[in-house]
Amino acid sequence: MKFEELPLANPLQRAVRAVGYETPTPIQERSIPSLLEGKDLLGIAQTGTGKTAAFALPILQRLLDSGKFRSPKTCRALILLPTRELAIQVEDCFREYAQFTAISTACIFGGVNDNPQKQKLIRGVDVLVATPGRLLDLIGQKAISLKKLEFFVLDEADRMLDMGFIHDIRKVVAMLPQDRQNLFFSATMPEEISKLAATILRPNPVRV
Ligand code: AMP
Repeated sequence: MKFEELPLANPLQRAVRAVGYETPTPIQERSIPSLLEGKDLLGIAQTGTGKTAAFALPILQRLLDSGKFRSPKTCRALILLPTRELAIQVEDCFREYAQFTAISTACIFGGVNDNPQKQKLIRGVDVLVATPGRLLDLIGQKAISLKKLEFFVLDEADRMLDMGFIHDIRKVVAMLPQDRQNLFFSATMPEEISKLAATILRPNPVRV
């Protein structure tokens, strides 16, 4: 299969060519069509498999399809990750894939002054990549709201639990609108993780 065969809009096809991808990886081939249909996804996947594009491209496509961009202080897609390094990497990917669109992205994480992050949120973002602590902090400060969220990605779920983020994750999930598309990724799927997945995903998610 070639990327051109996937139903992705021209700006995304152009971005994929610009980053030099020719054929989708197996996880991309299996995830992208189902995610474009609006299904939830449970993925057992490590980094290095092309996982990021597997979720970023369909989310960007669906944002393009519905067309309204950049509400101040709300976001439409949230990607939750355990570390600053991962958050930066994933936002870089979103930014590259969205480079020929009007979709805006932001990345928020702890350990640094929060003012630049707040300024960015006030200007409006469509896709927010975040670590849990700083996200809750900025929600508490009313710098961002998740009321309009349409896409929720929990990435590296097993590492999130190892790092003690379970309560933060539950707090975030409790703030999300019921009607949303969910993507849940973990490198391993012990019982604790599949239980958490079941509280986030709608019934019968696509499994990859
Ligand atoms: P990830 O698993 O998302 O961390 O991606 C691992 C690496 O593979 C990143 O450097 C991506 O840019 C690259 N990559 C993702 N999808 C493809 C593809 N279809 N063809 C070539 N490289 C890719």
